[in-house]
Amino acid sequence: MEQAAKIKINKDGTLSVPDHVIIPFIEGDGTGPDIWRATRTVIDSAVQTAYQGRKKIAWAELLVGEKGYQQCGERLSKDALDKIREHAVALKGPLTTPVGKGIRSLNVSIRQELDLYACVRPVKYIDAVPSPMRHPEKINMVVFRENTEDLYAGIEWEAGSDEAETVASFLSERMGAELPEKPGIGIKPISEKNTKRLVAKAIEYAIAEGYPSVTLMHKGNIMKYTEGAFCNWGYEVAKERFSDRVITERELYSGHNGAPATDRIIIKDRIADMLFQQVLLRPEEFGIIATPNLNGDYISDALAAQVGGLGMAPGANIGDECAVFEATHGTAPKYADQDRVNPSSLILSGAMMLDHMGWKAAAERIRQNLQETIRSGRVTYDLARQIEDAAEISCSAFGRAIADCRVDSRG
Ligand code: NAP
Repeated sequence: MEQAAKIKINKDGTLSVPDHVIIPFIEGDGTGPDIWRATRTVIDSAVQTAYQGRKKIAWAELLVGEKGYQQCGERLSKDALDKIREHAVALKGPLTTPVGKGIRSLNVSIRQELDLYACVRPVKYIDAVPSPMRHPEKINMVVFRENTEDLYAGIEWEAGSDEAETVASFLSERMGAELPEKPGIGIKPISEKNTKRLVAKAIEYAIAEGYPSVTLMHKGNIMKYTEGAFCNWGYEVAKERFSDRVITERELYSGHNGAPATDRIIIKDRIADMLFQQVLLRPEEFGIIATPNLNGDYISDALAAQVGGLGMAPGANIGDECAVFEATHGTAPKYADQDRVNPSSLILSGAMMLDHMGWKAAAERIRQNLQETIRSGRVTYDLARQIEDAAEISCSAFGRAIADCRVDSRG
């Protein structure tokens, strides 16, 4: 086999992936090492089985988080960020946000430093996973959450601080705003550029993966110039860049009596609170959901609960230069080094990474093997406590069971 090499990004944004490819990984803190080991076993086995030795991953560890601090004195080095950029993709376990003033979340730093503006979270039911829904099989959505702005921009000041008082005086004296006494203040920036690139990515994904609609989720009835603007700019970019591929829900109703007699992707919008209700009552009406940062955080966890919880939810942070695939849950420190937690979130994020690289046969094998293993009833503690007669097994045993599962993915 040829020497391991990096992925190249072509001029049109597509990837050239060598058969023997170097992929950087961040093990993560807390339960990170346990779920990483299980994930690596599953991915290596799926690639080997799908391509019979013609393709292979050479994993390259990046020392980030506690391991980075202990071995290099830095939790997130410039070198680690450069390596992710150079290699175009990376797989990442959860990282602790150290408690203390002024220390930014490493997860948020990675997203912002690498401009990974789209947080992509697929929510699809895996048969046999316990769900609180009566028809979880109707759920097949992907949340595109804006990752770089909104209230997550971190522009806020504590009540009573000089900064908060200065901003409060400016707002009341110069802008005529009515404020309560000594408020804490946070700023919510939402821009045309960042909205349009996020919504464009969501529409591109809907076209590539065959989803029937893109819903713009917003609270524009109350926050007109931020969330309302997000909605308007979303419709604008759909018309500017995809006019021959999309139709708005309004056009559909006025021109076609509401009948979905169209091969075009339907662009619609929903007020955030109402959407929370509709995804529970009529999940089959929603495919891609594009939304600002904070709404996206809330709706993706709520949707994850409908298909088995955070332990099962994969995620990716995608920009124009590179993409980081990561478990959506945290480090679950109380279970650290116990070989106990569910590695599925990272395993499914690994499958998303393989899809992104075009190694779809291996990705599909992972999803089928995971489903079959859960069906067998030998699962980690979190699933075992919800499935009657299930046998609890360790994180590593669960990983091995998925890796060794022999389901014919062509069937
Ligand atoms: P958490 O680590 O996600 O854990 C909360 C609970 O979720 C756990 O106690 C466990 O529930 C369940 N859980 C999490 N991972 C699981 C898994 N793999 N399998 C089964 N169950 C799992 O949230 P947290 O305790 O709020 O956060 C801990 C640390 O993680 C913090 O430092 C936080 O900043 C960080 N964090 C990192 C990321 C990231 O890296 N992207 C994301 C979120 C949080 P039970 O107790 O019911 O078993």
